[in-house]
Amino acid sequence: MDLTAANHRIPLSDGNSIPIIGLGTYSEPKLTSKGSCKTSVKMAIDVGYQHIDGAYIYRNEDEVGEAIREKIAEGRVKREDIFYCGKLWATHFEPERVRPYLEKTLKTLQLDYVDLYIIEMPMAFKPGDEFYPKDKYGNWLYHNSNLCATWEVECHPYFTQRKLLEFCQQHDIVIVAYSPLGTARNPLWVNVSFPPLLNDELLNSLGEKYNKTAAQVALRFNIQRGIVVIPKSFNPKRIKENFQVFDFSLTEEEMKSIEALNKDVRLVDLLLWSDHPEYPFYDEY
Ligand code: NDP
Repeated sequence: MDLTAANHRIPLSDGNSIPIIGLGTYSEPKLTSKGSCKTSVKMAIDVGYQHIDGAYIYRNEDEVGEAIREKIAEGRVKREDIFYCGKLWATHFEPERVRPYLEKTLKTLQLDYVDLYIIEMPMAFKPGDEFYPKDKYGNWLYHNSNLCATWEVECHPYFTQRKLLEFCQQHDIVIVAYSPLGTARNPLWVNVSFPPLLNDELLNSLGEKYNKTAAQVALRFNIQRGIVVIPKSFNPKRIKENFQVFDFSLTEEEMKSIEALNKDVRLVDLLLWSDHPEYPFYDEY
């Protein structure tokens, strides 16, 4: 795959294409200052990102929309240059709720369309406007749903998803890897019992060899496997850094040694919902 900073889209089987790196925009709302999402998306577009990953439930989709619209107005990009992925939240899986929820995203973004719309996670909650519904005793209000697949996949050197990748390659399915840097390690929904991925010795020593950081090596690893990555950063230096992954490549041997770091450990384990009947992470892949 000959991907460059200017041309890094990979084909999809329906004739469309997806940029292999995107900016993740989830950031704990209580810890994030107003406007930082907008500034980060604008900066990412300036740096050359063409893919933005967001969701209505991230509570900053309005800022994402503003940033994209301002960059279009400036003439920096056209709408068709940008690939935006939005998400359907767990309280809106009932077929009649899907369209109104998508329309909420479009209204919030103030854009006419999204490029991809996915199911955020395959466990339904009680339908309604309460995002995290609980009963009066504080128990989660789950809901039956009939979903047969998870549409997104955590993937990084500690969770390489070899079997899933093989399956997807055989069926011409492109994987989008969320948390490609090992997440922001929020203990509420992340397994933090392992040391941070970016402290890994091998990733750091390969980084030194190529004058890159462990984060860039982790991203490059997935990109070389044809996996789309959506690292989140609201830090100008790191937004740039995460995009500078098209000017070096890992050797076959290095790819194998990174693959060997696999611990089959899912960081985003969502254990708080592990008693949901549709909890997806007991399945191998
Ligand atoms: P990531 O693996 O992208 O890690 C983000 C964390 O790494 C942040 O704390 C960020 O901090 C830090 N970081 C970013 N770049 C660097 C760097 N170069 N060096 C060191 N640290 C860095 O985790 P996420 O879980 O946020 O996943 C990415 C995106 O995937 C989300 O933002 C969201 O858009 C999507 N997602 C979707 C899910 C779903 O739909 N089911 C589930 C989870 C994620 P800082 O901002 O300060 O740079």
